[in-house]
This record gives sequence, C-alpha cells and structure tokens, in this order.
Amino acid sequence: GGAFDPVVIRRQFPVFERNPGLVFLDTAASAQKPAAVIDGLAEYYRTDYANVHRGVYGLSARSTARFEAARERVARFLNAADASEIVFVRGATEGINLVAQAWGLAFLKPGDQVLVSELEHHSNIVPWQMLRDRLGIELVVAPIDAGGGLDLEAFAHLLTPRTKLVAMTHVANVTGGLVPVERVVDLAHACGAKVLLDGCQAVPRLPVDVRALDCDFYVFSGHKCYGPTGIGVLYAKRAVLDAMPPWQGGGDMIRTVTFAKTTYQDAPQRFEAGTPDIAGAIGLGLALDFMDGLGMAAIRDHEAALTDHARDALLAVPGVTLIGADGPGLGVVSFQVDGIHPHDLATIFDRHDVAIRAGHHCAQPLMDRLGVVATARASFGVYSDEDDVAALVAAVRAAQRLFGLTSAR
Ligand code: PMP
Repeated sequence: GGAFDPVVIRRQFPVFERNPGLVFLDTAASAQKPAAVIDGLAEYYRTDYANVHRGVYGLSARSTARFEAARERVARFLNAADASEIVFVRGATEGINLVAQAWGLAFLKPGDQVLVSELEHHSNIVPWQMLRDRLGIELVVAPIDAGGGLDLEAFAHLLTPRTKLVAMTHVANVTGGLVPVERVVDLAHACGAKVLLDGCQAVPRLPVDVRALDCDFYVFSGHKCYGPTGIGVLYAKRAVLDAMPPWQGGGDMIRTVTFAKTTYQDAPQRFEAGTPDIAGAIGLGLALDFMDGLGMAAIRDHEAALTDHARDALLAVPGVTLIGADGPGLGVVSFQVDGIHPHDLATIFDRHDVAIRAGHHCAQPLMDRLGVVATARASFGVYSDEDDVAALVAAVRAAQRLFGLTSAR
C-alpha cells in the first residue's frame, strides 16, 4: 500500500494479533486501542501515578504535569484557543448533560427553544427532554431530507429568536452522514443561538478545528478515537465557560469552603469535581498523538474512500438497501437485507467472525423517521480496509443462502 496502509496500521493493534481472523466492523460503537495507548497507560501507572492538584511531593507534581499536558494536547488537537477551554468528562454523554444542567439551568427559561435534528443519538436528545420537563423549555426537531441528510432549508426556517441553543451531531452515528455544521453554526449564530456539536463520530474521522467552526460547545468521547473508556472532552469557549455556574460539587472545584459559603475555582477546574480519570486523560493524549501521527487529513480520506467502496459493494448485492446514504459519508454504513432481520444478520455474521452492530443504535427517533425498527451497521477505523468490506459482502451472501434468498443467477 501507500503511505496510509491499514495492514501496517493494524499491526499496532494487539487485539488483531490475539483474534486472528476477526473482521471488526464496529468502530463507531468503540474503537480498538493501539499498543501506544495500552502500554502508555501501564507505563503511567508504573512510573508517575499519584493524585493530581493536591500533593506538593514530586510524584504528584509529575502526575499533575502529565494530566495538564493531556489537556494542552486536546486543546492543540481541536485548535482551541486555550487549554482552559477543555473540560475533562466521562464521555460525550456526560459533556452534553453538563451543558444541559450547568448552562441550561442558568440561561434558559420557559418558552426558550433547544433545536436538535432527527439524526441525533439519544445522548443528544434525552438531556434536553429532561431539561424541558424541568424548565418548560421547548425541544424543536429539524428534519432530515429524503436522502437522509439534515434538511438545511427546514433547519433555517425553524430558527427563531426563541432558539437559544442548536445541539447537533457533526457526523451521524447511524448513517455516517456528514452534517454541514459550518452552515449550521452560521445560521444559528445569525439568530443569536449558541451551538453545541456532538463530535463523537467526527473526531476519529476528520480534522476538527473548533475555532474555524466557531461552535460554542464541542463534545467527544475518548474511546471512539482509539483512547481509553471513561474519558471524554467538553470544549467550550472561555467566555461561555466563565459565565457558567458549577455543575457537580466536591473536591478540586472549590477555592474556599465553610459551612456557610463556598467559592469556586475558575474553568475548567470548576467543572471537574472529584478525582478525575487521570490515566484516561493521559491515554487520550496518546491516542491523539497516534491519530496525528497518521494525519487527520489522511484518516479522513481513508474513511471517505472506504465508505464509498462499502456503499458500492453492498449495493451490488441484490436485496441490499442502504439507509440514509445519499450524501457524503464517513466511516459508517447502515443497511438492510430483504427478508433478514438485522439481528439475525449480525448473529450469522458472527459465525463468520464478522462483527457488526444491529439495532436502533441509540437513535430510536431516527429509526421511526426512516420507518425501520433496526438497521445493520458496519463502521470503519484506521485499521479497516477493502478486505474487511469483502468479508462483509461475503457474509451477506452467506446469510442470504442460509435463508434461501439467493436467485439462480
Ligand atoms: N453521540 C454520538 C453521535 C455517538 O455515536 C455516541 C456513541 N454511540 C454518543 C453520542 C455517546 O457517546 P458515549 O456513550 O461515549 O458518551
């Protein structure tokens, strides 16, 4: 292969050595981990581990320095203006809940609107519904078009002076569809609304520049971009974070505490109560090093090309339909096979050691909108290649044979 060679890259992922023959097509749910991340976690625990921000002794200072260096690393990766704009959270889900509860409770009032899209993961729906039930705000939903992408014109029409926040995915986790977030941000800002982007499926797949995007909030999960579980990122513009009251209370987020009154740290510490996932943050930094080593532009080109190839290869099989795949897609393909329930398909695939996901993918409203109960979903990473797609197609054909669905031609 050329400079970007999935076969060579795969050698950096021990899981494939331990599971020869595994065709892993579920990276959108969670990515496998390169040795640099796995070994780096162990090395940190062996060498520099102690709690952060408290100890005056050398080991704690080293641990704190590494934790804060990881924050700098994330800031650089996203091109944030300053590391203080990076809040470490448990994952995208926690990041969105933090915004809903800290920013939402402080700045939204009855009648205000939060605008989401039909493409959203439950984690970008349910926190806003909970806020709606608590505050009397309204949840407004921008529709998708016939091709399965965001209907930009309809979105623009739904923006009103009552729209205070647009919360939208950057890359859709069911369809792989790339949302035109630059346009979304421009339109929302023109209306005075803030914008939260859910970058769970985007950060592993394309260069993300939060300053160029000009979004107010950006969230992603470390485990989907080759990092550890239990760590994620909430980026927010410094002025936005400064205006937000704290979320969870506890150690590390305070300046002074008496029983009468507590004063709080500045951002980001104000939003990081308790002992953080120190190793997770350091491991995430290593994962970002790994991705930058390959080059985010190269990763994007690889994901786009493999997605196009998979769409073509699946469409060439009689009885297969793609779901929401008209526009540009990155790393995720949802499909159905006539006469076979997606769960049966995934079960048969497993016999061929082909790991895909079947179900509603935490996007039940999108399933309802598309008129399906479930889809089969194959998703790619830096270690995926055309051989994986060939195995996927072979598994589809094998399932069709098993169900007696193949014609004589
Ligand atoms: N948003 C999107 C688009 C996702 O794909 C996911 C994970 N499936 C999430 C949010 C939630 O991420 P997590 O479970 O890591 O918090």
